[in-house]
Amino acid sequence: MNYLYRYLAIVLASFMLTVNTTQALAIQKIKVVATLPFLEDFVKNIGGDRIEVKSLLSGLESEHTYTPKPSDIAAVKEAGVIIKVGLGLEVWVDSLIKNASNNRLVVVTTSNGIPLVRGEEDGHEGHLGNPHVWLDPERAKIMIRHITEALSAADPAGRSIYLSNQAEYFKKIDRMHKRIEDTLRPITNRKIITHHPAWPYFAQRFKLQIVDNIQIQPGTEPSARHIVDMIGKVKRENVRVIVSEPQLNPKVPKIIADETGARIVVLTPMPGGLPGTGSYIEMMEYTGEQLAAALR
Ligand SMILES: [Zn+2]
Repeated sequence: MNYLYRYLAIVLASFMLTVNTTQALAIQKIKVVATLPFLEDFVKNIGGDRIEVKSLLSGLESEHTYTPKPSDIAAVKEAGVIIKVGLGLEVWVDSLIKNASNNRLVVVTTSNGIPLVRGEEDGHEGHLGNPHVWLDPERAKIMIRHITEALSAADPAGRSIYLSNQAEYFKKIDRMHKRIEDTLRPITNRKIITHHPAWPYFAQRFKLQIVDNIQIQPGTEPSARHIVDMIGKVKRENVRVIVSEPQLNPKVPKIIADETGARIVVLTPMPGGLPGTGSYIEMMEYTGEQLAAALR
């Protein structure tokens, strides 16, 4: 009897220990804040359930004109790591980080080391280079490598898991890349104009030609003169497609479409901006399919 008691006591104690350890691990999950929803998606794909991640933007806001909420400051205060694009894209993020005054916070700039489109092709006047680097799957892989490194540094025990998750995710990205190329292959007229200059990396990778941008400065309305110039260009160069975005005012694309007969195709550079674009990969494939349908 005595033995049985002792045996049960030991079993019970070790059981309690397991429960406590599991709870402790759950509590110790690394908290990551991503500025934008595709970065959240990258972190989920690499970190799996070892990581708790939250994006500040939902995909419905413009990344240029966002104003952080009190809950964003609270999230950054709690976080171990914040993941951003950089290159001045999130103009609001430095003051957010400062206001959160979290001295444990590791800031990860995922655009580091990425070759940039600059100058006339860029459209973002006064920037270091066009910041919408994630819209090229090969550049996105560089961003993902930064995330894998940052998670491994924060959680060295998870390193091999993060690396194998990265390998799996890269395979999915390669398949997406190939599918978009196949979808766009039959298109002969590859000229587009875009509303905000978010698409130079996508265009470069998939061999589309951006003839002009409606917005010269992100977040600002174009002048009447610029609109007239664009109407002339669209007609002269036989541009048949105008790319707009749900985050932007549809008025100007409509004026140009009405004057020229060009089609408007609504695309989102942020996952979640439109139905069927919930993940980064879905958003990229949606972009390829919509462009192919409009340019056909
Ligand atoms: Zn932009």
